Amino acid sequence: MNIHTTYDFIITGTGAAGLMVAYRMSLDSYFEGKKILLIDRDNKTSNDRTWCYWEKGTGEWDFLLAKTWENIYFGSKNYSGLISLGGYKYKMLRSSDFYSFVYKILRQNPQFEFVTDDVVNISETNNGVMIETKYNQYHAKKVFNSILDTSIIASQNKFPYLKQHFVGWFVKAVSPVFKENQATFMDFKIHQKGNTRFMYVLPTSPYEALIEYTLFSEKLLKIEEYEEEIKLYLTNLGVSDYKITEKEQGNIPMTSYPFEKNNSLNLMQIGSAGGWTKASTGYTFAKIAKNTKALIEYIKYHDDFRKFYCKNRYWYFDLIFLDVLHRNNELGSVVFSSIFKDNDIKDVFMFLDEKGSWFDDAKIMFKTKPSLQFVISAILNLPKMFKK
Ligand SMILES: Cc1cc2nc3c(=O)[nH]c(=O)nc-3n(C[C@H](O)[C@H](O)[C@H](O)COP(=O)(O)OP(=O)(O)OC[C@H]3O[C@@H](n4cnc5c(N)ncnc54)[C@H](O)[C@@H]3O)c2cc1C
Repeated sequence: MNIHTTYDFIITGTGAAGLMVAYRMSLDSYFEGKKILLIDRDNKTSNDRTWCYWEKGTGEWDFLLAKTWENIYFGSKNYSGLISLGGYKYKMLRSSDFYSFVYKILRQNPQFEFVTDDVVNISETNNGVMIETKYNQYHAKKVFNSILDTSIIASQNKFPYLKQHFVGWFVKAVSPVFKENQATFMDFKIHQKGNTRFMYVLPTSPYEALIEYTLFSEKLLKIEEYEEEIKLYLTNLGVSDYKITEKEQGNIPMTSYPFEKNNSLNLMQIGSAGGWTKASTGYTFAKIAKNTKALIEYIKYHDDFRKFYCKNRYWYFDLIFLDVLHRNNELGSVVFSSIFKDNDIKDVFMFLDEKGSWFDDAKIMFKTKPSLQFVISAILNLPKMFKK
């Protein structure tokens, strides 16, 4: 085993967060002359994720988008409706387009080096961090790690841990069956079977759509179970003649576990590994875009990675949501219906983006049903908000 030269920065895991940090470094003169190593076990050429996020007006990644929608459909027993996003757009970015764009920029810059290998251990040294891979060791003054170790969350029971798990089919129908200008955000009009289960449909043309059967629950299903439900949903939509052109699968952690406590002077956890996944929804991409900007500024003026994060009220709100769904997993349809029925979508997005005013946030929390469950969780979890 060789020990390689020391780098200024190593980024372990080059998915959304790792690549976004490297990309922002490549654009910033502060990082000129720094040696930066990126390590991933995968060469990131396939479309392993389809990221969607909402955004007001134009945004940084618009030039790469595969599709946008200005209306979303929400469906459930209690409330169904087409919601106009009023200035916001729901945006779809194929990960393969993001990877190839960022890799192209980084490969033109000799400061960046790339290794395809498995990271097996990360350890602190006197003056930095050592990364051990299957075949080598690498040392850096500072490391950003985006490799998520789910055993850390699974082995604790202080914070609720649900999984957002899903299987998606990209289908191409022979007739124009999809409503191209509306994305189905959540359709709870399917059997809940004691969980929070919904369909998510992203039509990219009248003939093509991504259809995902999604659960927020503790236990994963067998692949056949997700696929049977997608087939049934398509049949109920009247779509019988279609081809599956691609498939995707996901398991996103939903937890308020304080990932930031795994940061140290020289090692920072980023992306889902850093707790940047919104615990109550699983959305991560927009938060990665926001947090990496803040991170780049932070590095310029601060040396200690332990002080980057600070807990805010949204951490507590997310904890309450998760706790309610964790204790009463069948309530998802009621909870989300009350949010979409009783609030302006712009306020909901501001709330989820953690940009709402105290007053608007409180209104959303008070209107969310079932009220009793939320009050109980709010009381039970309040002490955790003030614990270091
Ligand atoms: C299928 C799918 C769809 C999603 N859709 C959305 C969405 O629509 N909107 C949204 O906001 N979020 C979405 N998410 C959640 C989130 O945005 C993504 O998971 C996002 O990729 C998280 O970025 P990350 O950098 O934290 O992790 P990743 O992108 O998963 O990057 C981690 C990297 O680490 C590498 N790696 C793992 N283990 C090792 C190892 N031992 N050695 C070396 N390398 C390793 C992996 O190959 C990977 O490249 C989705 C997630 C999935 C899985």
